Amino acid sequence: MEARDHIILFPFMAQGHLIPFVSLAKLLQRRTNCLVTLLSTPLNVQKFRSVLPPDAPIQVHSLPFDASDHGLPLGAENTDGLPFPLWVRLFHASRALRPAFEQFLSDFRRRHGRPPLCVVADFFLGWTLFAARAMGVYHAVFTTCGAYGTAAFISLWGNLPHTKTEEEQFHLPGFPESFRLERSQMSLYMRAADGNDEWSRFFREISPPCFESDALLCNSVAEMEPFGLEVLRGMMKMPVWCIGLTLPPSSLHRHPSSSFSDNRTGKETGISITDCVEWLNTHPPSSVLYISFGSQNTISETQMLKLAEGLESAGHPFIWVVRPPIGHDVNADFREEWLPEGFEERMRERKQGILVRKWAPQLEILAHESTGAFLSHCGWNSVLESMSQGVPIIAWPLASDQFYNSKMMEEELGVSLELTRGLVAEITVQTVVNVTQQVLGKTEKSADMKKKALVVSDMIRASMVEENGKTGSAINAVDEF
Ligand code: UDP
Repeated sequence: MEARDHIILFPFMAQGHLIPFVSLAKLLQRRTNCLVTLLSTPLNVQKFRSVLPPDAPIQVHSLPFDASDHGLPLGAENTDGLPFPLWVRLFHASRALRPAFEQFLSDFRRRHGRPPLCVVADFFLGWTLFAARAMGVYHAVFTTCGAYGTAAFISLWGNLPHTKTEEEQFHLPGFPESFRLERSQMSLYMRAADGNDEWSRFFREISPPCFESDALLCNSVAEMEPFGLEVLRGMMKMPVWCIGLTLPPSSLHRHPSSSFSDNRTGKETGISITDCVEWLNTHPPSSVLYISFGSQNTISETQMLKLAEGLESAGHPFIWVVRPPIGHDVNADFREEWLPEGFEERMRERKQGILVRKWAPQLEILAHESTGAFLSHCGWNSVLESMSQGVPIIAWPLASDQFYNSKMMEEELGVSLELTRGLVAEITVQTVVNVTQQVLGKTEKSADMKKKALVVSDMIRASMVEENGKTGSAINAVDEF
């Protein structure tokens, strides 16, 4: 029988969830005496293998899974006759994994003579609790969102429906009385959720077991979100630990690899890491705007045109990760007609801007001293990466927790300014000019935002310290866990 205990990590199958789980695996492997196993579908296990060094002591295990139908009946359509969107497919796929997970735990016990010590499952895989409990295995939930965002989600999904919410601003149960959310800060699907839709059904299934778990681990830094953490702790009757920005401290500057896809250079992106860095080298410190809407989101054709016109008028240098607009295959080649005529060439000739197709080396760009601000959809990984480098944010939240991340960053930390919000937001050239000028120009606002972003960056770095016997709050949280 093996002497060492095992921890099983089980992420939800979306890129924004897989990355933090890999980092969590490395952190647990470093700080505990346990063997760590990452569990997922065959495709994701391949991705884990591609980012883990071959000699990494972390094990990966793939659950049998038929990817051809993502757990849906073939040709399934939703009630509007449309193919199920990605997220709904993922919900079905995750449900389909349940028997395979239960089988995995039984096989594990048979092979090792005892069950694993603990299962750390994604918040979206709350049902893992039942199999863990049945075997006397500790269970913890890992939320890949921040504390504030997780608390907002829990409150919103726990208090459906919102279709009847008439007021433009409303109170969120569980938050202080004075706290207000705006209707426009709810995703479209949430505004339409009546309790019988796919999203409501999914959250109704996953949430109750999460409240019965032994602990909640949060992909955040306690010092960065004291308010959100207090609210979240008030909601969860279990220890809540902020285990830090899930990147090793050595990567807090010039991290070589932030994701599964940033080795796509040359042909696919047209621009390599070196090109980006060389281009940034030719610009003054804190002058360049980096623009990206994450790994899945994109904006509409009209919004894209206005943003481009705004950038050209504003005159600040920029690197923009472009992706086909809403309504087109996001993986298709980017067409110049989606931007003002001659835009890319003009920007390149004036040395004002470059377009990166599909995928950019985000951490390298954020870590470069010429990067002055990040126009971001406020996905939580992007927020943490930007903050780890002390780069203020111009926010354009599009969906899910992005709205709450944007609100938290602007109201609690003062490091972000919202340009607009939502997938159907109207955007004008003048707004782009005004907001970029406030954040990148030599203004009081920009100096203040930069100062505050550097304070947050220091908090993050201090939380991850683990040297000479000294440990930061995130490392202490992992050790307590
Ligand atoms: N990312 C990247 N290059 C890109 C787009 C995204 O490296 O061109 C990475 C980014 O660094 C982050 C992740 O993909 O780690 C996006 O996660 P986030 O939570 O910000 O947004 P999501 O993609 O989940 O909406």
